[in-house]
Amino acid sequence: EKIIIALDGHAGCGKSTTAKAVAKELDYIFIDTGAMYRAVTYYFLSNNVDFSDAVEVENALKEISLKFVLNPSSGIGEIHINGENVEPFIRNMEITSRVSDVASIKAVRVFNVAEQQKMGKEKGIVMDGRDIGTVVFPNAELKIFMTADVTVRAKRRLVEMESKGVETSLEDVESDIRNRDHLDSTRKESPLKKADDAVVVDTSGLTINQQVESILKLAKN
Ligand code: C5P
Repeated sequence: EKIIIALDGHAGCGKSTTAKAVAKELDYIFIDTGAMYRAVTYYFLSNNVDFSDAVEVENALKEISLKFVLNPSSGIGEIHINGENVEPFIRNMEITSRVSDVASIKAVRVFNVAEQQKMGKEKGIVMDGRDIGTVVFPNAELKIFMTADVTVRAKRRLVEMESKGVETSLEDVESDIRNRDHLDSTRKESPLKKADDAVVVDTSGLTINQQVESILKLAKN
């Protein structure tokens, strides 16, 4: 019986890496909802949309169509906005430092949540984000809340970014993570918080394999 696995938690604790591996193991679809907020941010910045203007935001959202398109070589869905693959442009520091502001806009959340709920019509998905177990799929069969020590997260994220050729420093990565966690958990609209029935997984001392194994075990129960 296929289920929905909702994977929420703090920035940079390995949610998407873990979610990808869990999805692969279970033959489920992996959906990275952070990519959707990043893609909307990219669109807003590219089109000079004034985030503080509700009308501009509403009009811009009407122009946006988001879609995950499977990359056959990696087996992972890449986010496309109006047919353009924006995956290469959404992981840099510029987008990363603005995404939490965009994600705090109610109209943006309504837009993305509706898309995510459509994607989840068929069970057999692992969805990673901040509000999946609380808002998008409050009835998900399995909810995980991932966290880890902030310095551990920053070190891991730095390695990942360097491997992608993104230039940054440990200090910048750590301050970004702290800042996003703060903005994400204090915002008015769907703040990041653990669902009452979520299982907490602290990944500070875990390898990716151990993270994946712990979730697979929970999924099989
Ligand atoms: O997961 P990722 O780090 O790519 O998410 C980027 C940002 O998008 C988060 O810091 C958060 O502000 C926002 N986000 C959100 N709700 C989600 C997923 C991401 O608000 N479900």
